[in-house]
Amino acid sequence: MTTIRHNWTKEEILNIYNKPFMELLYEAATVHREHHDPNTVQVSTLLSIKTGGCPEDCGYCPQAARYHTNVEGNDLMSVQQVKAQALRAKSTGSSRVCMGAAWRNVKDGAEFDQVLEMVRTINKLEMEVCCTLGMITENQAHRLAEAGLYAYNHNLDSSEEYYKEVISTRGYEDRLQTIDNVRKTNVTVCSGGIIGMGEKIEDRAGMLVALSTLNPQPESVPINALVAVEGTPLAEEKPVEIWDMIRMVATARIVMPETQVRLSAGRTQMSREGQAMCFFAGANSIFAGDKLLTTPNPDVNEDLKMFEALGLNPQKPFTKKVQPQSVEASESKFQALGEKPKWTRPEHKIERNEVAKQQAKVLK
Ligand code: SF4
Repeated sequence: MTTIRHNWTKEEILNIYNKPFMELLYEAATVHREHHDPNTVQVSTLLSIKTGGCPEDCGYCPQAARYHTNVEGNDLMSVQQVKAQALRAKSTGSSRVCMGAAWRNVKDGAEFDQVLEMVRTINKLEMEVCCTLGMITENQAHRLAEAGLYAYNHNLDSSEEYYKEVISTRGYEDRLQTIDNVRKTNVTVCSGGIIGMGEKIEDRAGMLVALSTLNPQPESVPINALVAVEGTPLAEEKPVEIWDMIRMVATARIVMPETQVRLSAGRTQMSREGQAMCFFAGANSIFAGDKLLTTPNPDVNEDLKMFEALGLNPQKPFTKKVQPQSVEASESKFQALGEKPKWTRPEHKIERNEVAKQQAKVLK
């Protein structure tokens, strides 16, 4: 059985990524079979519980308020709305619900309390609950854990070097700090990134170094292909080649053998054959539903047909880790502290972000 290493170097990872394709595929599939059932793939549903109006400047994101995109903003959904959507997702095979809010960071108060209630509600539906809410403090991580959160998502997006070319409103160290805060609880870590943002292969390897050298490694690593949205700074980037996606999935699988590798955004640009190769190379999760936060995603019936054609079974919830208990709000040991941590604001100038912002001013 392959052992888990936390000392991968960029050179080693580049050597894996650049192997002859068939050799890479064979090695990744071998590692995958040692650690996972190759015929099981988790179906997860991503819900945008609060859409748009985000103060950050992530160059790939149509939810950033400063860019002019066709995303319509929504206030925080109600617990009942979220419950209804989670039940619908469960009925079509999802075992995990990931709730995303377009926030820079979590602020203690009524909205966070509402999110905690959503976590309790979905956990009681016997589904894994994941949240992606921006930066969080250790106390907020404990409150989410107590509510029954299974996973917290906080993507590193790219290498530390290339991150600075995409986002100027917060630093890489904030990402790592939030992951560290989550690690102080029993909530699992979900962290991955995006390819196709104009980065070099070295940046992809750099991101995998940052993820694989975390100890423990993240339980979940989403690999996204950029969905270039009009109005965002990265709107003109070319679609990711399927070979790059397969290489990235395979490399992630080899350096993080136990991790759930998630084939995330960008599946509408991939054929079923391409996705099948990603599963063979070690991807063992997809996101279902016609939208991934705000970008298009394959229809759930198409995914079910693909599963049937490939003989894949949806993974049951809590296969990798037992279900957390949900503590009711009235019995909570962790109260709101109203902390105001000083998350970084590098605010360096990223030319294409500035251009997109100026264009938005003209159009709005
Ligand atoms: S990726 Fe998240 S933090 Fe960045 S602009 Fe979009 S919603 Fe905001």
